[in-house]
Amino acid sequence: MALVSAKEMLEKARDGKYAVGQFNINNLEWTKSILQTAEELKSPVILGVSEGAGKYMAGFKTVANMVKGMIECLEITVPVALHLDHGTYEGCYKCIDAGFSSIMFDGSKLPIEENVAKTKELVGVCNKLGLSLEAEVGAIGGEEDGVIGRGECADPDECKKIADLGVDMLAAGIGNIHGKYPADWPGLSFDTLAAVKKKVGKMPLVLHGGTGIPTDMIKKAISLGVAKINVNTECQLAFTAATRKYIEEGKDLVGKGFDPRKLLAPGTQAIKDTVKEKMEIFGSVGKA
Ligand SMILES: [Zn+2]
Repeated sequence: MALVSAKEMLEKARDGKYAVGQFNINNLEWTKSILQTAEELKSPVILGVSEGAGKYMAGFKTVANMVKGMIECLEITVPVALHLDHGTYEGCYKCIDAGFSSIMFDGSKLPIEENVAKTKELVGVCNKLGLSLEAEVGAIGGEEDGVIGRGECADPDECKKIADLGVDMLAAGIGNIHGKYPADWPGLSFDTLAAVKKKVGKMPLVLHGGTGIPTDMIKKAISLGVAKINVNTECQLAFTAATRKYIEEGKDLVGKGFDPRKLLAPGTQAIKDTVKEKMEIFGSVGKA
């Protein structure tokens, strides 16, 4: 199946009261693990690419071609969206040009008027090309590509203003944070989520910073209108722990244990296990 926009899969998720996972990719192993797990579990999936990861992988065109090639060679039949995560205005156009099927314009740090103007322009471009567009209101806390924010809560009226522009999904800060959650984290603000939902109606909502949010909070968020959940750090932690174990056990020193295909195998399996666990919690298994 060719890359698809995230619009239809998220509308189905919203109506079916489950969420589609966005799993960020960093390299070939990441991409392959996520695609294979989605296929195995018959789950729709969104591959997230931050601007930093795009740069690391030699540019958005390389990423788009790798993903398209993999979908074909691995005979992936489930719907896959290739999505720019937290895009700048310039980054959005680069990804549109590179063949991404979905983009996020993160204008949350701009004055609301400028966020509105740029989002509006991108809605027009994406509609014409059949791409889905995610917008953000209220900065998500934590660190993303060197930018550090606190766990803010979005203003529901500002959310409505952006949602009404015709975006396909909306990320609203509800106290969620990128990366690891601090021990004294007060949890998600379900009051904010409910207030946002009331204002934006049927718009699928996006929960960023899915790593480490307790399962019961995830499920409650889905019941309140969250249809897309972003996971990044959790796959990184799992990959690194498995790779560390392989090295610490001295397996790289045995036979051809130094072969990168062997060295990266435990980490790759750990990503698969993490993605499977998340898809089961999100309820997207068997929905493709
Ligand atoms: Zn995010």
